[in-house]
Order: sequence, then structure tokens, then C-alpha cells
Amino acid sequence: IQPPPSVLHAFRAAARKAPDRTALAYFDGRLSYAETDALSDGIAAHLADRGFRPGDRAAIMLQNTPQFVLALLGVWKAGGVVVPVNPMYKSAELRHVLDDAEVTAVICADRTWDGFLRTTAAAAPSVRLALTTSERELQTRDDARVLRGEPLGPQEGADDLLAVARAGTGRAAAPPAGPGPAADDLALISYTSGTSGTPKGATNTHGNLTYNAERQRTGHGLPEGTTYFALAPLFHITGMVCELAVCFANAGTLVLAYRFEAGVVLDAFLEHRPAYTVGPSTAYMALMAHPDVTRDHFTSFAIMSSGGAPLPPALVEKFRTAFGPYLHNGYGLTECTAPCASVPPGREAPVDKVSGTLAVGVPGPDTVVRIVDDHGADLPFGEPGEIAVRGPQVVPGYWRRPDATAEALPDGELRTGDIGFMDTDGWLYVVDRKKDMINASGFKVWPREVEDVLYGHPAVREAAVVGVPDAYRGESVKAYVSLRPGADVPPAELAAYCKERLAAYKYPREVEILTELPKTTSGKILRRELRHRA
Ligand code: ATP
Repeated sequence: IQPPPSVLHAFRAAARKAPDRTALAYFDGRLSYAETDALSDGIAAHLADRGFRPGDRAAIMLQNTPQFVLALLGVWKAGGVVVPVNPMYKSAELRHVLDDAEVTAVICADRTWDGFLRTTAAAAPSVRLALTTSERELQTRDDARVLRGEPLGPQEGADDLLAVARAGTGRAAAPPAGPGPAADDLALISYTSGTSGTPKGATNTHGNLTYNAERQRTGHGLPEGTTYFALAPLFHITGMVCELAVCFANAGTLVLAYRFEAGVVLDAFLEHRPAYTVGPSTAYMALMAHPDVTRDHFTSFAIMSSGGAPLPPALVEKFRTAFGPYLHNGYGLTECTAPCASVPPGREAPVDKVSGTLAVGVPGPDTVVRIVDDHGADLPFGEPGEIAVRGPQVVPGYWRRPDATAEALPDGELRTGDIGFMDTDGWLYVVDRKKDMINASGFKVWPREVEDVLYGHPAVREAAVVGVPDAYRGESVKAYVSLRPGADVPPAELAAYCKERLAAYKYPREVEILTELPKTTSGKILRRELRHRA
């Protein structure tokens, strides 16, 4: 694999090759590669004019919109480092990120700025400039206005993102051009979404991103100009790499749809006929549960992938039976810039006979995955241990955290905190997160194994299993589930269903039914929140 030095190089190559091709589609609106290039030049020029220097950090806090992509390219063109921030963050989390990354520029929706960011940013001494864009227009999906970029009148203390983009395109002076970023330069500081503990900034280099994008592109074998649908959020590493970076590497069209809403996504599938998408398994669960879903919604897809969260084997079968496509599993972390193992198109992942776990894939050609004990020694095939990854997609470390870097990346090898095993054919299986293990009377219970069984029940839509304090057992197994629309089943029946299929110490002693399970905005079920609830 010979990736270009950066995603920006790939984007520019695509813009030269196919300037009139649609780069970004947002509901009825479209921007060509040439327009996207020119508008992001405008943003780069504005940032440079306002004293933003190479290496400076810009936080982008937007949903999946053209503005996100214009801002991203603009910051990279100005030599900056992007800090993607979940737009749902509350002040305290945001403040942590702004301070920790010493963010200079903030790019967000006007409502975010007005709501709390202005005060948060004012309290964050590093923030010197802000660009805002209209949340109302983004949400009403009035593409004509979104893409026309009529300034709303700048927010107090901020400039209008699209106005500066347009003003810049009219300038004679080109924005800072140069050769573009080098592979070792920082592209992103990605704060882990915090399903466990305080967010730390993983430092993804341009080379990390472009390597994984190129590996995915060549692995897919889809024709140049393919249409990609962004199901995962771009502020999360899965969306950034597997959707945006892969799309630009293939000179494709990226379809954006604000944030995940099953009905809107299904409509967009029919309108744009995408050939590729990737999202968390919970997004597929929501699509399946939508009252209007039909097989026709999926006929344009060559590949559908699930990544960033556990994929229950029962979901793969239910999805294929109901709608046709086979869901390709993929395993990755922010620290390895999205995937480090995936199921090659055209192949199907085996299911482990003993545990019932679906394989996550095979590691890429330059990626070495080891299963290690607590001392870092290799474990034999089939034996579970911590998954360790070395490869061109692994980050050099955490932002200004030598302690965390030394702990998670000894000698540059990533200790993932996930327990897994390898089979003799090279398939990798993820058992669970190390820290989510339940200790019931001294027996190890991995929540996923129990969840996978629950997903086999026809009434179950989502499942999460946690350990709850128990006077006799130390911890006991508790399951939370949400049901498919119209389904009704007593909790005791679900417990009995598990008891028939699992060893006595593993089945949930208690099952509670909720309308919906708590999730991160990237779609991961938050076991931590459920543990606190118990
Ligand atoms: P934290 O904040 O604790 O680091 P996170 O969920 O915020 O966690 P991410 O980098 O977004 O961090 O997620 C990576 C994790 O998601 C992996 O460590 C793994 O536990 C889980 N994961 C990703 N893909 C899969 C998969 N295909 N199967 C099972 N688990 C997966």
C-alpha cells in the first residue's frame, strides 16, 4: 500500500482529476470537488489572516454537514490540527478539551456558540477566534440556503463560516499552499468518547489516517467515484476515516445527513443510492426497527459494514434474512485510527463454536496483532488475553500525556484494553473490554456473551449486561434490554431463555426492560451508565 502523505493530498488529487464530480451531497444540495476545494481555501485564508499558525489547534463541533468538511479541509490547508468535538458535549467536557488541547479556533453552529460555548470559550484562555454557521438552516435542511451560505449576521465575537469561505474564494491571493502536511504531522487530536474515564487526546497523524483510508479503499475494490453514505458521525474516528477519508481517496461522493435518524437515513438511501456505508451495530438495529424499512432501501449497497461497537451474530443473520446485505464486522479504536482488523469483502466472519462470538475480521497486511498476558508475553491460539496492535495506523501517543502513552503504548505497541483471541486461520475475536468483566462468585462472565444470546431472542432490540453488587456472589449478572416495536415479553422469560443457553453462573439473575438503552452519540451502548443505575 502506497498512501499519499495526507487525506488532503488525496482530496486535492481527486479535485484535479474530477473537479465537477459531486464531493458532498446534503439532502438536495451538492458541492462539487472544485467548489469544496475553493470554499475550504477561503476558510484557510481567513484562518491564516487571523493569526492561526501551522500546528495550532481548531475544534470543530458540528454534525455531519458540508460545513464540517469545509472546516476540516480549511484547517488542514492552514497547517492546523483538528480537534473533532462531539456537538452534544456539555460545558464541563468541552472545557476540558479546549484547555487540554489549547484550542485557538472554535468552529461550531451558532446555537452552540450562543448557548454556552461563548462563555465556555471566554473562560478558555487559548481560544482567540470563532467561526459559526446556522444551526437552524442545517436542521431545516434547507440546502439552498445552507449551500448559498447567506450570513446571518455574525454571532457576537464570531465570524460566519460560509461567508468567510465565499469571501476567500474571490481573493486573488491563494491560501497557504506549500506541499501540504507531512505524514508524521498531527492531523487530529481525537478525544476518546469516554465510555470509560476522562477523555484523553489520541494524536492521529496524517499518515495514520491516510494509511487506513488507503487500506480500506484497496480492500473494498469499489470503482472510483463510488457514493459513500456517512452513517457514523464524522467527529468520531470511524466516520472520519472509513467514510470521509476513504471517499476522498476514491474520488467519491460523500452523502451527509446531519445526525442519525433512522427515517431520514432510509430516505437518503433511496435518494442517493450509496454503495458503501459503515456505522455502529446500534444504527442497524434502529434501521431494522423502523416501520417503513423495506429490502428496496438496501439494494444499492455493494458493502455494508459495522464498526466501532460489538456486532451480535444474531443481528447479522436477522438483517440478512430481512433485507439481503451481509454486515461486515470491523474492529478498531480511536488509538488505531479506526480499523485494525476487518472482514474482507466477499468473505464471511466465522462464529466461535464455544462462546458464540462473531470474529471481527483479519488484521491488515502491515498490522501485527498479538494476544498477550499481563506481562506482554504471547498467548497460544484460542486463548483469550489482551489484544495488542502494532502498525502504521497506531497513534504515536496521547496529547501531552507521557504517563498514559507509556502505559497504553509500550514501545509503540498499543495495548487496547480489550480481551480477545485468535484462531489458527488468523481470525481475530473480541471477547469484551477487560474492565467490563463481571466476577460472579469468582467466575468470569463476559457481558458480550450474554448479550449475544439475548440478541437471538426475536423480541429483543438492544441488550446490555452489567455486574451489580451481590451480597453472596460479589457481583451478579443483570441484563437491560429494549424490545422491538410491538413486542411484549416478560423479563422472566428472557432470563429463562438465557438460562437454557448459558452456563448456570452466566445467565442474568435479573432482567429489566427499558424503552431505550443509553448510548454515546457515536452509537455505543453505555454499560457504565447502566451500572450506575443498578
Ligand atoms: P474509551 O473512552 O473507554 O477509550 P471509547 O468507546 O470511547 O472507549 P473508541 O475508540 O471509540 O473508544 O472505541 C473502541 C472500542 O470499541 C474498542 O476498544 C472495543 O472495545 C470496541 N469495539 C470496536 N469495534 C468493535 C467490534 N467490532 N467488536 C467489539 N467491540 C468493538
